Amino acid sequence: MYLKTLHLRQFRNYEEQKVEFTAAKTILVGNNAQGKSNLLEAVELLATLRSHRMARDRDLVKEGEAIAQIHATLERQTGISDLTLTLRRNGRRSVALNGESLRRQMDFLGVLNAVQFSSLDLELVRGGPENRRNWLDTLLIQLEPVYAHILQQYNHVLRQRNAFLKKHQDSVGAQGFAPLHQELAVWDAQLATTGTRVIRRRDRAIQRLAPIAAAWHANISGSTEVLQIKYAPNVPLEQNQPEEVQQAFLTKIQQRAVAESYRGTTLVGPHRDEVELAINQTPARQYGSQGQQRTLVLALKLAELQLIEEVVKEPPLLLLDDVLAELDPYRQNQLLDTIQDRFQTLITTTHLSSFDSQWLNSSQILFVKAGE
Ligand code: ATP
Ligand code: MG
Repeated sequence: MYLKTLHLRQFRNYEEQKVEFTAAKTILVGNNAQGKSNLLEAVELLATLRSHRMARDRDLVKEGEAIAQIHATLERQTGISDLTLTLRRNGRRSVALNGESLRRQMDFLGVLNAVQFSSLDLELVRGGPENRRNWLDTLLIQLEPVYAHILQQYNHVLRQRNAFLKKHQDSVGAQGFAPLHQELAVWDAQLATTGTRVIRRRDRAIQRLAPIAAAWHANISGSTEVLQIKYAPNVPLEQNQPEEVQQAFLTKIQQRAVAESYRGTTLVGPHRDEVELAINQTPARQYGSQGQQRTLVLALKLAELQLIEEVVKEPPLLLLDDVLAELDPYRQNQLLDTIQDRFQTLITTTHLSSFDSQWLNSSQILFVKAGE
């Protein structure tokens, strides 16, 4: 797929800026705090309706304005699409495809696919499990847009159930926990049904991604180090049928019932799951140098690109935010060789010296200064 144009209005530090992409590779060069990452973030939002910087909508809208708009034209094998995302300071969003506004955000997802790779991604290895869950969810949204809806349903039930638990925290009456649990039963059933959908999809995605990532990792590290990725749900997933997983979910909830009423929060479910990254059976977080951790993240990102390409049958965009400078020359080449002209790539940098002349000659170069 090929992003032809991008039009930003009152987005971040951009007042109004149209960009036309004229090559498979675009290098955005400029000093710090000029708007390079902001532009990549706009593309990321069109692809996932999420920002990996975890920005709230009121931070995305230009200071002093109420509305921001991101508009793009995209060429796919199926034809040209026209995407518009409108963001408001009050958090209300609207999406339109080819000029028609869409009721469900899920119908907007999956039109533009993109993999984002920035220095923040090191948190995938070093950070807590929520980083890996977010990463996996963002990937899944692109692989099967209906997942966005499933996740939303789960989070909705989770919030309701948490609110109920919080309200009744420590209020165990003379009859013990029984009355509380009768009321909770409604939420439990919904949590188990929606949670099972989340768990099974996450597990399936990791099973597909793991061998691809392991192959890239072996390739880049050029050694016998073996990368293992495993989805580790806190509800046992040995069973194959959704009904069996739901049953296991409910059993686990019963086991944690007392702890849940003391803690006033839901302790069972995919919001507490982990994606285990290990190298030669050693958890990656405790393992190795920063360079080795970067190799792992690079392998994950290349695997994402490949998996999305396999599933959607078209190469996604690659958004590289300041990562080249962090890789050694060998890994830089590994990445650049893989991209070649296979993936349309937007790259930010503060100086062009990281690129060789062949790259510079074949790339579109945009100078970014103060939101222009
Ligand atoms: P670096 O090289 O440091 O990564 P960058 O060019 O990637 O820089 P961006 O993150 O794209 O920088 O842009 C940061 C600039 O955007 C900052 O000056 C910040 O104040 C400004 N900015 C961010 N959000 C808004 C907003 N909502 N309204 C106005 N300006 C904003
Ligand atoms: Mg930046």
